[in-house]
Amino acid sequence: MSDRPGDMAQRVCIVGAGVVGLACALQLQARGYAVTLVDPRPPGEYCSLGNAGCFSRASCVPLGLPGAWKKVPGWLADPLGPLSIPWRYAARIAPWLWRLHKASSLDQVNRIADALHPLLDRSIDAWVPLAQRAGVPELVVQNGYAFAYRSESAFLGDGLGRELRRARGVSIEVLTGGEVREFEPALSKAVTHLVVLPEQGHCPNPLRLSQALAAVLHAGGARFFAGKALGFEHREGRANRVLTDAGQIDTDHVVIAAGAHSGELAKALGHVVPLETERGYHVMLSAPTVVPKVPVMSGEGKYFCTPMEGGLRIAGTVELAGLDAPPNYSRADALVALSRNLFPDLAFGKLERWMGHRPSLPDSLPVVGRAPRVPNVYFAFGHGHVGLTAAAPTGEIIAALVAGDEPEVDIRPFDISRF
Ligand SMILES: Cc1cc2nc3c(=O)[nH]c(=O)nc-3n(C[C@H](O)[C@H](O)[C@H](O)COP(=O)(O)OP(=O)(O)OC[C@H]3O[C@@H](n4cnc5c(N)ncnc54)[C@H](O)[C@@H]3O)c2cc1C
Repeated sequence: MSDRPGDMAQRVCIVGAGVVGLACALQLQARGYAVTLVDPRPPGEYCSLGNAGCFSRASCVPLGLPGAWKKVPGWLADPLGPLSIPWRYAARIAPWLWRLHKASSLDQVNRIADALHPLLDRSIDAWVPLAQRAGVPELVVQNGYAFAYRSESAFLGDGLGRELRRARGVSIEVLTGGEVREFEPALSKAVTHLVVLPEQGHCPNPLRLSQALAAVLHAGGARFFAGKALGFEHREGRANRVLTDAGQIDTDHVVIAAGAHSGELAKALGHVVPLETERGYHVMLSAPTVVPKVPVMSGEGKYFCTPMEGGLRIAGTVELAGLDAPPNYSRADALVALSRNLFPDLAFGKLERWMGHRPSLPDSLPVVGRAPRVPNVYFAFGHGHVGLTAAAPTGEIIAALVAGDEPEVDIRPFDISRF
């Protein structure tokens, strides 16, 4: 593998130690590369910390669906609704929303689902060996999850999503009436339909998963460099040095996995990408009186109630307000009220609130692949709502590319040149 003098291992510098950067690092280390992760934060403590924990193999359904724009005014008007756009950010986000709208025709949606499905469907198969290597097999649980609807019309309204999934082989069971409470006794009698996806999975502690990956990387000789990457130095058309606010890192290859901040680094390499942050919130409820046996998502509210090691996590919502605005924790508090629509008997001890930045592109596809203009730089960002799910398969792809192998998943739809 090595072409360096003295047959030393080639060096890869990974910018960003979120779950995506960590999974790339572990796959690269397994192939014999000497990896350095550069991040101003401790591993896994940014967006990867607070997600809903779902390994959503079936999430090939993009954010923009035909006719979805008709629901937007209602969502925006509802303070408990799944979408919020502060007026001061509306002009800034408009071009991104326009791109999202253009990606929401039926043809586009099918194209996106075809591209995403092979990536996401590998999730659990790719995660199991990583979690085993990190000594935490208990953090990849595959016992399914469910979508709960409180009316026939809401259930029917998500029909296209079910069609897209079924057409790609996803197993789906629809429960109604008494079957709903037989499956999950704590669910409200108002839940009329429960859509169970038995092949999905979840991680009961996403932060502990990232930390376990970091520990095994460290034990294998990986270097964790505390700093913010600012740009690159180039020699003979290749990036040979990463410049940071804490010094420079000489390297043979670079992977950009800086989540919602990757756009600035792509720009330094000559690529402008419409990367936005879809801010999401969670509340973590300790000592909950109700713990569903699998994660349950509200079909209407689009938030997940996930059983976690530290209690019950209610996570979701989309707030389009950029990277710099302070969190609006009333969005998190709303999740508590909403969760009682599904679990009316829910009581709990303490409550912790969190906000995180999903790294999102308007066509719901990530950017994964080689930088067209600098052949030793690789992109691994923009996984939006499915970054935990896609991290392990993305790590496999990046390790294959760096080694000069053909990835098993078709990555052409994830090319940065599509923008
Ligand atoms: C409420 C919510 C629920 C979610 N639920 C799910 C779910 O159930 N399933 C799922 O699959 N996904 C889910 N997601 C999405 C998922 O959490 C993200 O897609 C994923 O965490 C992104 O990982 P990442 O490694 O790309 O980014 P991050 O975790 O954000 O990591 C990026 C890292 O890059 C670092 N960085 C940034 N700029 C620089 C720089 N210049 N130099 C060095 N380092 C830098 C940051 O400090 C950070 O540590 C959810 C997200 C939210 C907000």
